[in-house]
Amino acid sequence: MNAPLPAEVLKQHLIDPEICIRCNTCEETCPIKAITHDSNNYVVDPEICNGCMACVPPCPTGAIDNWRLMVRTEAYGLQEQLGWEELPGEKALPEAMAAAPASDEPDATEAAIAPPLSAAPGATVPPWSAAHPYVNLYTHKAPMTATVVGNYRVTGADTESDIHHIVLDFGELPFPVLEGQSIGILPPGVDAQGRPHHARQYSLASPRDGERAGYNNLSLTVKRVTEDHAGAAAHGVCSNYLCDLAKNDKVQVIGPFGNTFLMPNHPRANLIMICTGTGSAPMRAMTERYRRRIETGENGRLLLFFGARTERELPYFGPLMKLPRDFIDINLALSRETGQPKRYVQDLIRDRADAVRELLADRNTCIYVCGLKGMELGVLDALREVTLQAGQDWSILHDALRREGRLHFETY
Ligand code: FAD
Repeated sequence: MNAPLPAEVLKQHLIDPEICIRCNTCEETCPIKAITHDSNNYVVDPEICNGCMACVPPCPTGAIDNWRLMVRTEAYGLQEQLGWEELPGEKALPEAMAAAPASDEPDATEAAIAPPLSAAPGATVPPWSAAHPYVNLYTHKAPMTATVVGNYRVTGADTESDIHHIVLDFGELPFPVLEGQSIGILPPGVDAQGRPHHARQYSLASPRDGERAGYNNLSLTVKRVTEDHAGAAAHGVCSNYLCDLAKNDKVQVIGPFGNTFLMPNHPRANLIMICTGTGSAPMRAMTERYRRRIETGENGRLLLFFGARTERELPYFGPLMKLPRDFIDINLALSRETGQPKRYVQDLIRDRADAVRELLADRNTCIYVCGLKGMELGVLDALREVTLQAGQDWSILHDALRREGRLHFETY
């Protein structure tokens, strides 16, 4: 165990701006709102952070896990951190402080031994049987160059939703990934301040052994952003760059990222997958992993809840519907299909309460939720409702699912 720190010394929590991919996970996870951001950086307020470590495991890149021993009165303030392009080096502490009496404040490393249940709705640990993920093999300073070997639209040409399936090949260089992980793409060019664009994150849509089994490639499901979340016209820098790529174009890639949103690896594990739009990417990766090993008899059950406005806006609709029904239980929620009542994924979870409860009662079941941020509350409410109907206490089950790495959210 680390020796307690002198009272005048602060173990300051910092975020590495060179590795951070601005995914907002830390800000959402922090239970005491110590993390904030501007258009440049994500930063930690030294006045608020108590070193509880709740934000550390969910960070997909590890950018969050930086600490500096500082004279408390000289801690880096928020404004200073917001202006950083890179982390400052370690500063030597005055000698007198090394010998000063101990503070009662908990050391951050000690706090990590028993982290509090964070404010995040999902687990911050992977399922117990998940395979070991590799992360940060390629960084901003040393990205990998991938080659585009495929790029085609997977939503109806007559719809507003332009979603592309993009296949990237890594040639001879290793890029080991697991289903549920993501990669970062460095779009070319600079932002309004003249700085290189920061990386955008995209979930893998292919399983660990490649988009084509045995090939050193992977696929992404990318939605072209033409309007912002409020519906105003906007030109998404990276999504438009990716959707416009041609075969043989080169792309700068960093990652892989993600060490918790991973699938269980033990036989007969069941997956409940709940997604909308491009949130289907990790579900496609996991489903394909299961499909490729149908013959082994190792698979558990797959229950999918998939939402979109119409069938033609559902990425991969055709191939999905061709999967055998005894392999995957597919439930489509369409919110704008002509002549049909509006249905959202949470409505279908309620409709299929018996199937959901049966799987939830099995500790071999993991739940994955991916898509728009707005779906989190609705899904949690529906899960609460179906559990309560069976006379179970949702808060107990919810805590167990999070502790055991069985309930995962990836929303953006
Ligand atoms: P920007 O230039 O960054 O933004 C342009 C404007 O659009 C801004 O006003 C911004 O607020 C708004 N905006 C940003 N994102 C969206 C959005 N999704 N919808 C509507 N408005 C938006 N995206 C995918 O397409 N497929 C994925 O598999 C995927 N996986 C992700 C996984 C993680 C863990 C995270 C954090 C994000 C993921 N994203 C995914 C989102 C992706 O990283 C980008 O944010 C998205 O492509 C927009 O980037 P951009 O550069 O095109 O837009």
